[in-house]
Amino acid sequence: MDNYSKVILKSGKEQSINRYHPWIFSGAIKLINGDVKEGDIVEVYSNHNEFLALGHYQIGTITVRIFSFEKTEINFEFWEKKLLKAYNLRKEIGLIDNKNTNVFRLVHGEGDDMPGAIIDFYNGTAVTQFHSIGMYLERQTFAKALKNIFGDKLNAVYDKSESTIPFKSEINPTNEYLLGENKANIVSEYGNKFKVDWEEGQKTGFFIDQRENRKLIEYYSKDKSVLNVFGYTGGFSIYAMKGNAKLVHSVDSSKKAIELTDENIALNFDDTSRHKSFAVDAFDFLKDIKNKYDLIILDPPAFAKHNKALNNALKGYKKINTRAFEQIRSGGILFTFSCSQAVSKKNFREAVFSAAAISGRKVKILHQLTQPSDHPVNIYHPEGEYLKGLVLYVE
Ligand code: SAH
Repeated sequence: MDNYSKVILKSGKEQSINRYHPWIFSGAIKLINGDVKEGDIVEVYSNHNEFLALGHYQIGTITVRIFSFEKTEINFEFWEKKLLKAYNLRKEIGLIDNKNTNVFRLVHGEGDDMPGAIIDFYNGTAVTQFHSIGMYLERQTFAKALKNIFGDKLNAVYDKSESTIPFKSEINPTNEYLLGENKANIVSEYGNKFKVDWEEGQKTGFFIDQRENRKLIEYYSKDKSVLNVFGYTGGFSIYAMKGNAKLVHSVDSSKKAIELTDENIALNFDDTSRHKSFAVDAFDFLKDIKNKYDLIILDPPAFAKHNKALNNALKGYKKINTRAFEQIRSGGILFTFSCSQAVSKKNFREAVFSAAAISGRKVKILHQLTQPSDHPVNIYHPEGEYLKGLVLYVE
C-alpha cells in the first residue's frame, strides 16, 4: 500500500464519517502527518488512531473529499470499478443503448461516490469536468477506463476543467481532448435533436438535469402560449413545440445560446414560425409581458454559488417569480426552478410563496420536481439534491 499522508481528526469529528458523509471540513482536522500536496490521496484517522477513509486532499473549506471508506489499493482497477458501477446504474435505469436518448450523466460526483468528478455522455463523447484536483490528476485513468467500458460506443473524451479547478491551485488545467476528437455533436433526448457545443457551451455543454422536467412541459403545452425564460439552447422550447404549443418564446441573455436555440428549433421542426427567440436580459423582459402567456418557465442559473450569496439569491428568485405571477394568464401554469445547492428546498419554496403572496394570485402546487435518476443523490450526502422545481397552477 502506498505511503499516504495521514489526516487525523479532532476528537468526536469522526461522527459524520461514520455516517458515510463524504466531506471533511478544515475545522475537523487536528493535524496532518506527512508532506501533503493538493490533489494527494490521504488516509483519514480518528483521534483514537482508527482508520476511517481514503480521500483527496485540497486546500479549502472542504479539505478532504472521500472516495472510499475501506482501506484498499487505489489503482487503475479501483477507478475502473467505480466507473463500471456508475455505468451499470445508467444501464439499470435504461439510459445505455437507448434508441431515443443518447445523452445522460454518467458520473454525478458524490452521487456516484466520486466527489469532485462529473462525466456527461453525449452520443459517443464523454465530457469530464472536475472540481477536485485529485480527480483531475486521474483524468487519463478515467479516459482509459471509459474506453474499456464503452468500447466502440465511445469515440472521444473531452476534459473541460479549465474554469472549475480552484484558482488557487497551481495545476492550471487547459480544456483538451484526452481521447479522440469527435465533431459529431448532435444528440438525441426523447427523440428530440440538440446540437451540443461542449467546447464553448456552458457547463459540459447541455443541462442534462432538466430532461424529465422538459418532458413534462411537452405534456402541458398543447395550444398554449409558452414563455421559456433562461432558455439556454432551447431545451424546454423544443418540448413545448413538440407538445403543440400555439407559440413559444425563448429568452436568454447569451447571444450564442440564442443562436443555438434557433438552430435546434430548425433541426426539429420544418415550420419554425411558432417560435421566436430574444437575446435579452430576463429581468428586463419580464417587466412587461402583460397577459400574453399561459405557460411560463423560469430556469435561472445558480443565483447563489456560496452560502454568503444566499440572501441576494432569494431576492432574485422572489423578483422573477413575482413578475411571472403578476402577469401570467389566469389558469396559467408556472414551472419555476432553482439549481443553487446553497438554496434549500424550504428557502426556495418560501421565496416562491412570498412572490405568490405579493401578486395576490391564488396558486396551487401541481408538481414538485427535482433532478433525474442519472443525477443520483447519495443518501448520506443530502446536499447532492440541488435541483428544485415547482409546477404551479395560477387561478
Ligand atoms: N433551461 C435551460 C438551462 C438554463 S441555464 C435548459 O433546459 O437547457 C441558465 C441560463 O440563463 C443560461 O443559458 C444563461 O445564459 C442564462 N442567463 C443568465 N443570466 C441571465 C439573465 N440575466 N437574463 C437572461 N438569461 C440569463
